[in-house]
Amino acid sequence: MEDKKDPTLSDEHIETRTVHAGQRPDSRTGAVTVPIYATSTYAQVPGVDHPYEYSRVQNPTREALETACAALEGTRYATAFSSGMAAIDALIRACPPHSHVVAGLNAYGGTIRLLDQVWVREGRTFTFVYPVTFENIREACQPSKTALILIETPSNPCLDIVSIEKVAEIAHMFGCYLAVDNTFMSPYLQNPVEHGADVVIHSTTKYLNGHSDSIGGVLCYNDDMLDEKIRFIVKSAGAILSPFESWLILRGLRTLHVRMDRHVYNARRLVEALLGHPAIERVYYPELETHPGHDIHMRQARAGGGMVSFSLKPGLDPLGFFRHLKICIYGESLGGVETLISHPATMTHASLTEETRKKLGVTENLVRVSVGIENCDDIIGDILEALDRAKEGG
Ligand code: PLP
Repeated sequence: MEDKKDPTLSDEHIETRTVHAGQRPDSRTGAVTVPIYATSTYAQVPGVDHPYEYSRVQNPTREALETACAALEGTRYATAFSSGMAAIDALIRACPPHSHVVAGLNAYGGTIRLLDQVWVREGRTFTFVYPVTFENIREACQPSKTALILIETPSNPCLDIVSIEKVAEIAHMFGCYLAVDNTFMSPYLQNPVEHGADVVIHSTTKYLNGHSDSIGGVLCYNDDMLDEKIRFIVKSAGAILSPFESWLILRGLRTLHVRMDRHVYNARRLVEALLGHPAIERVYYPELETHPGHDIHMRQARAGGGMVSFSLKPGLDPLGFFRHLKICIYGESLGGVETLISHPATMTHASLTEETRKKLGVTENLVRVSVGIENCDDIIGDILEALDRAKEGG
């Protein structure tokens, strides 16, 4: 299978890779953007092998995106899917039948649902661990049975941190893969493979695309055998990303570093404004020295990212706060240019039991902010004003 690392860009700085990897000028026309190959099939010559036969299996626009993602995560291969969930589904499918998977209970709710309500019926077994420490993961692993460990760091919404390096050691001790969902960080801020992970997952829907206008997913990895399995699954099950969506993500990727710098800058300013505010009980942000796992995070990532969570003081109605927002948008998802504010207890984590939510720290007064790239004074002003109006009981 073709090695996806772009040979012209493997050692360049990441800012150069986001602009150029997989996106060199078109060899036929010189076009500086990758063409959208909107074709289902390709003309062939009888008796001759062709690199392109049918777009479920090969498409040049999708391949350009895969090359770009592999170059950004520093892996040999990347495979794109129609959604982040389709990418995770393919990864589970690639595990041997009747194998066991260890996953952090603080993973994205949709991931937990896929494992616990869909794949469990197909004979896979799962152990969900919380807190996600390497000790708990080691305890949950079953010799010769565990095929995969799946973690998120920082996690959603409380930004829990775990050492990728230590979990990778455990995974390799048990002869299984470690997959890290890197959606919250993006490859600009964290490269899990550098710390021993075998597979990196992205919901490209979020920071990689960055404009809240497409759904997609990608798996990045180095293992030849895994690539063969994943490609076979894509070809057989067909959860592919369309050429147009691939192109949208390629376009988004070219500004990833600029957007991420601004997300981080704005997140830091927002954290400063929230700390010590009379309406705020606690602020969750991995750059805070008081944040559990701060030191680990700063060793394995380049910054705290664009996600900030906070809890409101008792007596303050979060719904009242959300209603008074004028610029920030109340809604699910993250990683877009616009500031999105959500209520995890009734949105992303609504499908979990109250007991699990409590265990994860997803309380009724918890608010999650995907800090956008607007002027930070406008974001902060909007949030502080909505807090004031909620405090007044409006
Ligand atoms: N992983 C994480 C961390 C997510 O936040 C999400 C979606 O919110 C997914 C995976 C699933 O991605 P998608 O919505 O693209 O299927």
